[in-house]
Amino acid sequence: MAKYVEFKSSLPLAKHIILPHIELRNLTTHKFFDMANLKKEYSNGVITVVWQPTKCTHAGVCVHTLPKVYNPKAKPWIAIENASSEALRNQVNKCPSGALSFYENKE
Ligand code: SF4
Repeated sequence: MAKYVEFKSSLPLAKHIILPHIELRNLTTHKFFDMANLKKEYSNGVITVVWQPTKCTHAGVCVHTLPKVYNPKAKPWIAIENASSEALRNQVNKCPSGALSFYENKE
């Protein structure tokens, strides 16, 4: 049986509470978050970095590789403007879980 955890809509979805076996419901709207397909996108106009929190294993490779971009204490935690597109591509390709991916923006 699934575990249900309720949060107020004002609370951020901190990474430590995003667990695949727990379903989250918004207390205001009473809608369940679609955890399996939860994605955040960050674009610099050239590429868009996509983060899928439920895939993240918190290995910290991103934080160690590009600390000016990935800061878990900041909001948003990804500051894509702090690295070149090439550096971002190289780093995203090293994410061990596939939580990070990117696509090239169309001109
Ligand atoms: S490198 Fe990937 S798996 Fe590791 S913390 Fe960053 S996003 Fe998560």
